[in-house]
Amino acid sequence: MTGARYAAGAASPGAASAETTDAASAGVASVTAPALRVRGASVEIGGASILEDVSFDAAPGEVVALIGPNGAGKSTLLAVVTGDQATTGGEVEIAGRPLGAWSLKELGRRRAVLLQQNGVFFPFSVREVVEMGRAPWQGTPRDADDDRVVDESLALTETTRFQSRPLPSLSGGERARASLARILAQETGILLLDEPTAALDLRHQEDVLRIARNRARAGDCVVVVLHDLSLAAAYADRIVLIHDGRVVADGAPDAVLTGELLSRVYDLPVEVMRHPVTGTAIILPIRQPSAARVAEPGESSKETP
Ligand code: ADP
Ligand code: MG
Repeated sequence: MTGARYAAGAASPGAASAETTDAASAGVASVTAPALRVRGASVEIGGASILEDVSFDAAPGEVVALIGPNGAGKSTLLAVVTGDQATTGGEVEIAGRPLGAWSLKELGRRRAVLLQQNGVFFPFSVREVVEMGRAPWQGTPRDADDDRVVDESLALTETTRFQSRPLPSLSGGERARASLARILAQETGILLLDEPTAALDLRHQEDVLRIARNRARAGDCVVVVLHDLSLAAAYADRIVLIHDGRVVADGAPDAVLTGELLSRVYDLPVEVMRHPVTGTAIILPIRQPSAARVAEPGESSKETP
């Protein structure tokens, strides 16, 4: 689906000729090149090293979870990939082309970004905000799809019933879903999501990760920053663990999510258990019985009749 999408973009008669040529060559490159490629990226801010020699790839069809403690550098790494954060060294490629070779307009059709601070407090309606996601396709044949794509994105994130309401009037979780709808409407082959589940209830967390998985199944590349490690274990194909500005592990969930490594990186005793049916990792801090609230024998839920 993504291949078809890229091909449609490349063949788009509305595209500028230079862009058509570039997109066509990038289309060839994207068959072999990862969707995202970061090599040896370093970032310094005010003399402090924020990222150091970070390398990381993400391929079409893949959900990659970025995990790591607060301040590890996850958002900074996403900002490097989007070009919002300058590096002091290293290379970034999107679909086989150096980041700097893409115009902003082309990038807007290739990758969508859900920022951690998605506090879009514009006095726009939810529908208007989602329509903004279509901006990169303006003036191309694909802008004929705008209404359908906006409707689908609202439906997928269950924000249709809020569509006429001003965005600031929504709850934090509703607003986060509306912001997700905006970047889904952008119809890019690469999705960069910074803590998209942070404000969401249990069901909507699962919904967001299911949407991400479905997009990957359709050929998109999804990079998602998550704090819930069990959620990462359940939905990611690959997990990249960042600590103090460095990649300390990169691999399949079972390889990265070990009690020893997580306990060290999070500076907290952590245990990894297995779901009895699915076998998926469940990650919990090891809590001392004296600190945790322990149920009394025979204690039952108030809902039990
Ligand atoms: P994460 O997303 O993993 O929680 P960030 O990438 O946001 O971490 O930040 C990594 C580190 O860089 C943090 O210690 C943060 O305080 C620092 N940092 C980020 N931006 C700046 C900035 N503009 N000036 C100084 N420090 C910064
Ligand atoms: Mg962050």
